[in-house]
Amino acid sequence: MYLCPECKSDHVEKTYSIGLRVIVCIILLFIPYGILICWVPFVFPYKYICYLCGTETVNDQMLQIDWREREELAKEFFRFEEKIDPLLGEWIEDQDGRIFKVAKGKGQFFLVEVKDIENVTTHRIVDYIEEPNTSEIKASSKVGVNYRRVLQNDPVDFSTDISTTKPDLTDLGKELLTEDEHKHIIDRDLDLNNWLKNLPKNQQEINVEFLLDQEKTAS
Ligand SMILES: [Zn+2]
Repeated sequence: MYLCPECKSDHVEKTYSIGLRVIVCIILLFIPYGILICWVPFVFPYKYICYLCGTETVNDQMLQIDWREREELAKEFFRFEEKIDPLLGEWIEDQDGRIFKVAKGKGQFFLVEVKDIENVTTHRIVDYIEEPNTSEIKASSKVGVNYRRVLQNDPVDFSTDISTTKPDLTDLGKELLTEDEHKHIIDRDLDLNNWLKNLPKNQQEINVEFLLDQEKTAS
């Protein structure tokens, strides 16, 4: 079983299809001596894309685990869920006054950040360190396409005036936000910052630290 080396998700898929390689192979067969090199498309390493964190990885860098390691990983996930459970569905305000909702969607844990109606985003919760005084959530903003969108912000067609639309929740969004929260977020007459400030928050003092993406640390 292959896992993403960055987030250990098994929601990974090969990006270069067999079909494309077959087509290139057939094209090669039609060029002089192409028959000698028509196998070349099949030896390029396959790339995997992770839907959860968006990382692209060649196959020899993927994490490969057996059923025992898989069981251990499932236990680790369960322990993590137990630890973070009291925060799920709660709004928190961090050390910098930023407001997030802690929520679970599609089996993963996220911080939902609401900036405005066009900017409702998710950050992956990577770790949660529980302390009696100040706890800490480590999060990453590197989120794959399938786990990033909370609201369906695409205009239906060019005649749609985006400034008046009331976007629906995505399937992920339905798990992360309540109908009432959604109703407020898409209300363009509402002072969103004021609404966020006045939401009941979890009383636990929590620092939120964002991990730098690998690309950023490498540069
Ligand atoms: Zn990943």
